[in-house]
Amino acid sequence: MTVPSPLRVEGAPLRIDLHAHSTASDGMASPTKFVETAASAGLDVVALTDHDTVDGVAEAVAAAGPLGVRVVPGVELSVMDGKDEVHLLGLYLADIAAIADALTTFREGRTARAEAMVAALNAKGVPVTMEAVSREAAGGAYGRPHVARALVAGGFVADVREAFDTWLGMGKPAFVEKPRLDVADGVAVVHRAGGLAIWAHPGDDGRRGKFERMVAAGIDGAEVRHPGHNGSDVARIGALVEFFHLVPSGGSDWHGAMGGPRMLGAVQVPSEWLARHEERLAMRRNAVPVREP
Ligand code: AMP
Ligand code: ZN
Ligand code: FE
Ligand code: FE
Repeated sequence: MTVPSPLRVEGAPLRIDLHAHSTASDGMASPTKFVETAASAGLDVVALTDHDTVDGVAEAVAAAGPLGVRVVPGVELSVMDGKDEVHLLGLYLADIAAIADALTTFREGRTARAEAMVAALNAKGVPVTMEAVSREAAGGAYGRPHVARALVAGGFVADVREAFDTWLGMGKPAFVEKPRLDVADGVAVVHRAGGLAIWAHPGDDGRRGKFERMVAAGIDGAEVRHPGHNGSDVARIGALVEFFHLVPSGGSDWHGAMGGPRMLGAVQVPSEWLARHEERLAMRRNAVPVREP
């Protein structure tokens, strides 16, 4: 049974945020807390898009029913466009079991990479341990933020920003690449689960040439609204989405902040975009053969 959200006004447009992380990856809130935060922010539809894992989805869906919130099952994959990393959201994943093996491989890659980052730090004289990192990850898929938080907890840096600036940012002494699929293979993983593949936060890279490659790789859409996008990004990417007959999406990219520009619901998308997603999904599920990677 679905109980309407207490903040929901009958006939009012839906309040929708389609990008968020939980403790299943590098977010600070559990999947349950995520849904409770969504309900108290008056959101009707939220997507859980943890990095390389769908482990939080079942808990979020279970918590969502009684609160009248719809949870869109999702994931955020890191993939390669040539030498550049791009992020790909998989939204509306209907058949998670179909991609469980692929996601397990990504996760194992993240564990090995966390170990390599710890080894690099140790080699540079910073005695952080894998135990400390795994305390921060608390069972979630390992990411650089967990290593950063372990460095803070150990007193090796003042804050997470310093951890990235000194050690973990790209090109810094303890930066380690993670194994990544190319864009087309990432898109195929999303499609195998019955989802829509959305180019996450294209930002300043969201220009015609790169859009052409992403479209050729099979994306369904791109994020137009994101806290990292300025007004000109929104206008340019919005226009390119229409030019390439893609669907627009967006969200707050929430990692647990309870205020500020990355608060859950701080970036929302109109109901009309959700309707376009549903149309595109129906088209994909009925007519488009799925490429096996
Ligand atoms: P990973 O996927 O493990 O490479 O970690 C990427 C995550 O690290 C991003 O989603 C951000 O949450 C975080 N991150 C990346 N760069 C920075 C930075 N300079 N300062 C703080 N957090 C960062
Ligand atoms: Zn993250
Ligand atoms: Fe991202
Ligand atoms: Fe994200």
